[in-house]
Amino acid sequence: MFEDTQIVALIVQKYGGTSVGTPERIKHVAQRVAKFKAQGHQVVVVVSAMSGETNRLIALAKEIQPNPDPRELDVVISTGEQVTIGLLSMALKQEGLQARSYTGAQAQIVTDSAFNKARIVSIDEENIRTDLENDKVVVLAGFQGVDEKGNLTTLGRGGSDTTGVAIAAALRADECQIYTDVDGVYTTDPRMVPEARRLKSITFEEMLEMASLGSKVLQIRSVEFAGKYKVRLRVLSSFLDDPGEGTLITFEEDNKMEQAIISGIAFNRDEAKITVRGVPDKPGIAYQILGPVSDANIDVDMIIQNVGVDGSTDFSFTVHRNEFTKAMEILKNQVQPHIGAREVIGDDKTAKVSVVGVGMRSHVGIASKMFRTLAEEGINLQMISTSEIKISVVIDEKYLELAVRVLHKAFGLEQEDA
Ligand code: ADP
Ligand code: ASP
Ligand code: MG
Repeated sequence: MFEDTQIVALIVQKYGGTSVGTPERIKHVAQRVAKFKAQGHQVVVVVSAMSGETNRLIALAKEIQPNPDPRELDVVISTGEQVTIGLLSMALKQEGLQARSYTGAQAQIVTDSAFNKARIVSIDEENIRTDLENDKVVVLAGFQGVDEKGNLTTLGRGGSDTTGVAIAAALRADECQIYTDVDGVYTTDPRMVPEARRLKSITFEEMLEMASLGSKVLQIRSVEFAGKYKVRLRVLSSFLDDPGEGTLITFEEDNKMEQAIISGIAFNRDEAKITVRGVPDKPGIAYQILGPVSDANIDVDMIIQNVGVDGSTDFSFTVHRNEFTKAMEILKNQVQPHIGAREVIGDDKTAKVSVVGVGMRSHVGIASKMFRTLAEEGINLQMISTSEIKISVVIDEKYLELAVRVLHKAFGLEQEDA
């Protein structure tokens, strides 16, 4: 990191909800920023809403409108971050620094118009650069932007990570530091498995898989941005006086000689499984089933179609649990009568567990080890999907914790002294 060097750097620091959860935490962030400023660095700080605030605002919106209007929901939930940028700028001034806050719209973080899950299209970093040159700390609201028509937008839950990496990319910052409530990326969520071990580094590809398979320590889009623009990205604790090195997301695999075969285990409790049974086995069926689902803007994750027997087959896929009811309705009311399927059944008490590691490319037997480990615990695998560097299984939600623990152990991921 930059603590021991004399080189002046441009650093983006992103602080998550717990890290700015109270006035004391905000003052603490200001003190940390002051340390970096004292070393001569230029600092852009991206902040989330105070912890719990975004949930509170969503609940408030739902009290008025159970299915909130997407545009107006973004107007409501983008206020959380507006509070923290103002408060942090005040705290920085109390530290004797010059600071200036920017909402997403003020910074011209232009997004598409997909309310509640907008994507950043461009950032006008001119004013920010001028502020930095004039020795100001720039405090930027995470999670929000503005579309071309001037509508406020938000970037999806956890989206402040993406604001952080995007501004780091736009400014060609030397490093983007994600400060959070854990001191790095672990072999699995340390709240689920206390024996989990912090990784000194993780490859970009592995981080991408971990994030997309449920590890919420980084929002997936932030990792995608880091990959696209080669942003040096590091995860650190905001709670330690000396946060150490945290976890660096690396782009080269060659310095990983002792690379473990499996780097981590990700999980996701939000999966719901749907099966359309007795589907006629003929061309176009997958499209006729999934077309209406995707027209309703429901994302589909794992998909399995069985081999047809006697002209009919079963078709299963998973969706986010929040969209289970909506998806079931579409399938029962529109799809089933239309294609003449026998029945539509669903289970929203499922979970997905995935093992991730680039070492899988050069090692065989990972899948069988995973399946054996789960079989020994009597855990039934409902769906399986693999890619070059990950294996995912869908299981009954009640076995999730057990599955993660036994796999973590079986692949030798614990701390050395555990
Ligand atoms: P923030 O509010 O700072 O953005 P998040 O709650 O979004 O923080 O992300 C941090 C949390 O991610 C941790 O508290 C931890 O429970 C969870 N997490 C899940 N998987 C991992 C992992 N592999 N390594 C570290 N943390 C993880
Ligand atoms: N405040 C937003 C959320 O809770 C964005 C973030 O924290 O990254 O999802
Ligand atoms: Mg987060």
